[in-house]
Amino acid sequence: MFQAIVIDKQDEQQIAQLTQLTEEHLPEGDVTVEVAYSTLNYKDALALTGRAPIIRKFPMSPGIDFSGVVRESQHPDFAPGDRVVLNGWGVGERHSGGLAELARVKGDWLVRLPDHMSLRQAMAIGTAGYTSMLCVMALEDHGITPDAGEIVVTGAAGGVGSVAVAVLSALGYKVAAVTGRTEESEYLQSLGATSIVDRSELEGKLRPLAGERWAAGIDVVGSAMLANLLSAIKYRGIVAACGLAGGMDLPASVAPFILRGVTLAGIDSVMCPKPERQRAWDRLATDLDMEKLRAMETEVPLENAIETAAKLLAGEVRGRVVVPINPS
Ligand code: NAP
Repeated sequence: MFQAIVIDKQDEQQIAQLTQLTEEHLPEGDVTVEVAYSTLNYKDALALTGRAPIIRKFPMSPGIDFSGVVRESQHPDFAPGDRVVLNGWGVGERHSGGLAELARVKGDWLVRLPDHMSLRQAMAIGTAGYTSMLCVMALEDHGITPDAGEIVVTGAAGGVGSVAVAVLSALGYKVAAVTGRTEESEYLQSLGATSIVDRSELEGKLRPLAGERWAAGIDVVGSAMLANLLSAIKYRGIVAACGLAGGMDLPASVAPFILRGVTLAGIDSVMCPKPERQRAWDRLATDLDMEKLRAMETEVPLENAIETAAKLLAGEVRGRVVVPINPS
């Protein structure tokens, strides 16, 4: 028997509860992992609260990511004892996920944990942090260097935002942190933010072109925020867009693209090819200050994950949530 959160549907209503399962409940896969840590990402919170149709099959364990140790493997790349991390690939959506003591997945989905990273650090980073690194890599691949000017990060006090601020700062960039929680200014400055921007500044009516303010941006909010960001990016800059915390629409004009050569780069962590994932995890091991990571973490036991999900969606959780499962 092992413990797991399971989401089921009764009378069109989703019900999430902590329960006991047996190995027969595990889905198909060639690697079985003892989950050490999982996390709560925005998508997990949507799944646990039923606020969006994230779960595609019922009953299902949520949890889009986990770190753990391989227990059994029929996959040539993994053997018992290997330390691994998993993000996405539909796990926690269509395939049972990480908010459980055991997980069975395809070995092709697993990434080997970098040597100097602990299982706990991997999930303090989680999918949110790995996505931040994908965004940073998109900026770098576009040729944005620290001397290009300040980089703007939205939703800065959240998971993706906090890791993005810390990584950019470690790489020598100046970072403008956009937040609705200006009371978190000291926290954001401790992560390396060089300026704090009140969210309300970027929520107003769209101006097709505003003054050229930032060299590039990382956006987790979407909607009017992303549109306003695009209009304030310097000539030939880029915005890496990965989120929809403020909405899925994009009420923008084409002016920034055709008059300033601005690029809008879409970032998807779920189906991202494996070499890019491994590169992102390897970069996190070297370019994220683990002391700063500690300042971002809140620990939530598995039995409290369901109630914490609503707080996360209400914007009441700072940084990252770690869920210890078989901690080591
Ligand atoms: P999170 O920890 O909840 O952070 C989201 C932050 O966005 C909040 O802390 C808040 O920051 C800001 N925010 C929330 N509601 C807002 C609103 N209505 N208007 C403006 N800002 C708002 O979530 P997360 O895990 O970092 O994820 C952030 C987003 O990225 C989510 O939409 C998630 O789905 C997406 N994401 C996408 C991928 C991908 O593969 N594309 C991967 C990971 C995450 P402040 O309090 O600082 O304002």
